[in-house]
Amino acid sequence: MRGFLLTRYFTVLSFILIGLAGVWLSHFAHKQASAQLMHMAEDRNVAMTQLFRNALWEDFAPLMESTVSTPDALREQAVSLGLQNKAVALMRNSDAIKVKVYNPTGLTVFSSDPSQTGEDKRANAGFLAAVLGQVATTLTHRNQFDAFESTLSEIDVISSYVPVRSGDQIVGVIEVYQDVTQFIQAVDRGQRETGAIIFCVLLALYLLQLVVVRRAQLVLQQQSDELAAANRDLDFRVRDRTATLETTNQQLRQEMQERQRIEERLDHLAHHDPLTSLPNRLMFHEQLKRSLGLAQRNQRQLAILFIDLDRFKDVNDTLGHAIGDELLVAASKRLTGHLRTGDTLARLGGDEFVCVLEDIHDPHEANIVADKLVELLEAPFQVVEHELFVSASVGISLYPEDGQDVETLVRNADTAMYQAKAHGRGRSHFYAPEMTTYAQERIRLEVLLRRSIDAGEISVQYQLKVSAANGAPAGVEALARWNSAELGAVPPVRFIPIAEDTGFIVELGAWVLRTACRQLAAWRAAGVNVPKMSVNLSVKQLERDDVVSVVQAALDEAGLEPSSLELEVTESIIMAVDDAFSILEKLRALGVQIAVDDFGTGYSSLSYLKLLPIHTLKIDRAFVLGIGQNPGDEAIIRAIIAIASSLGLSTVAEGVDAEHQIGFLRELGCGQIQGYYYGKPQPAEEFAANWIKG
Ligand code: C2E
Ligand code: MG
Ligand code: MG
Repeated sequence: MRGFLLTRYFTVLSFILIGLAGVWLSHFAHKQASAQLMHMAEDRNVAMTQLFRNALWEDFAPLMESTVSTPDALREQAVSLGLQNKAVALMRNSDAIKVKVYNPTGLTVFSSDPSQTGEDKRANAGFLAAVLGQVATTLTHRNQFDAFESTLSEIDVISSYVPVRSGDQIVGVIEVYQDVTQFIQAVDRGQRETGAIIFCVLLALYLLQLVVVRRAQLVLQQQSDELAAANRDLDFRVRDRTATLETTNQQLRQEMQERQRIEERLDHLAHHDPLTSLPNRLMFHEQLKRSLGLAQRNQRQLAILFIDLDRFKDVNDTLGHAIGDELLVAASKRLTGHLRTGDTLARLGGDEFVCVLEDIHDPHEANIVADKLVELLEAPFQVVEHELFVSASVGISLYPEDGQDVETLVRNADTAMYQAKAHGRGRSHFYAPEMTTYAQERIRLEVLLRRSIDAGEISVQYQLKVSAANGAPAGVEALARWNSAELGAVPPVRFIPIAEDTGFIVELGAWVLRTACRQLAAWRAAGVNVPKMSVNLSVKQLERDDVVSVVQAALDEAGLEPSSLELEVTESIIMAVDDAFSILEKLRALGVQIAVDDFGTGYSSLSYLKLLPIHTLKIDRAFVLGIGQNPGDEAIIRAIIAIASSLGLSTVAEGVDAEHQIGFLRELGCGQIQGYYYGKPQPAEEFAANWIKG
């Protein structure tokens, strides 16, 4: 786009305006001059008319009263009165070129141009004004004027009608024509000069302005160029800045996205279990709270299933956390795969899962789902090269019967889960209010048990084993006893399972082992020659990598040779622990003996049994109890003794407390007998005294 060109517009516009101003000024000057001229000419003419009136009126007065009215008669009258000559004589000495006299009726009674004498001027504007007492003047240009005998051409004439008064009365009108040609010419000349001056002044003004405007245009142009350059620079800087801003903006957007991603991730982490990606305790609580609100509004029932894997801790302890983690992931996948979309599964921690079944119509529905979950988890898990068998115990609490809030419902489902475990694991159990007392008791027991060793509440009692053949003392079993300051004597059937569940058994078992070994050494040192000490070993101890070193340490500490020690492991351990074989093999290699406790209750495969590095089978008390009463039990005892003898193992019958049982066992060739008949578990001193007696 082209810029605004001040000079171009100015040249044209200013030219037009100054031109118009010039024209208007010339016109105005002309008008002023003409008016002035008119005024001056009129004054002169009026003065001249007065002169004529004064000089000639006495001669003209008779004409006013005369009754003559035809032109010829009037001309004759003027000649006769000598008016013509007088008038001409007066005119010769002035600029007047014609004189006319009218009577009040408008009749031209005299004219220095005789041809006009007698004309009627009644309607003449000048005459009419004069009759009314005013002087009227007109300026005319004539190209032919007949004055006197000569004819004037191209002249300017001014004529004035002047009233002639006598007292108040207008008695006639005199009109005098004056030649103002020279006067007009002088004025014209003056006007031309004025025009020229105006023109010159305006031209000078125009040129001056032109110079100023051109200069201004130059300055403007310079400023405009500078502005354009500044604009270009600004544009460049703005573009530069915009680009920087865009980059910053882009970075900011990326940062915001990153931040959002991190926030989402943090939120996910805060609400999910990182291992299984299931909702965590926090999220579960929030969801259950919402579900409870809805259920309350819609009067619906909910079920909370508390799921705990039964042997997870064993897996974790024996195979390590990595395998344990994989097992948890696999278990959670199995569980989620089975649930309805509306149901929530969450991991509360460890091997504890919790599931909310929304909108159930009958508690039986919860039972079906719980049993299904138990069944699902019973199938073996293949984790890396391990085939793992875990089961699950499920506790069920119902809304609204078993609680109105999240905490109560979860706690009650947890309590019911413990009940399921107490009933033999791998099953589900509904919550019942009385369980709470049981659970609370159990918690108390756990707490007290944990500090029992330090409090000196744990002791070991010893139960005699005799030879079945002759009743001679043959050995001893060490049995833990807990005499709690708060609870009194707590039987092993109550505290041993809790110690196993909480892992405290590892500490407890080692303590019993050390105490028993030391006791055996002490007896021997005192001359009480007990050949062998049997100590119970829990599955938890057996699964630990350090089991062999713990046993070795106990033997070393007491200064016993390994053959003096027998470890009793329950039959169920052999089936539960993955590589029971290699662990037992290590213990055997150490030189200690191994007895299978409670044999006959654990459904072990006989072909597997054949391979184990064991020495003794302990026939379970339940079968001994059936002797003389239950032929089935007797048959089992018979079979166990036969198997043992064929595998080259010795046998011990437990829980023998009647004479007929002894006869039966002796007849079958049972190796040793243990039971109340020969002695209850006793403190060390009593046992030693009896031993010496026996
Ligand atoms: P167990 O190893 O089978 O021990 C034998 C149990 O039978 C003992 O019960 C003993 O008192 C009882 N008994 C012996 N003869 C008779 C009898 O004639 N009649 C009756 N009714 N009972 C008899 P206790 O001491 O209550 O121990 C129970 C179980 O607790 C033990 O069974 C053992 O499995 C476990 N236990 C005890 N102490 C320990 C320990 O230090 N470590 C481990 N791991 N388990 C232990
Ligand atoms: Mg035992
Ligand atoms: Mg037993």
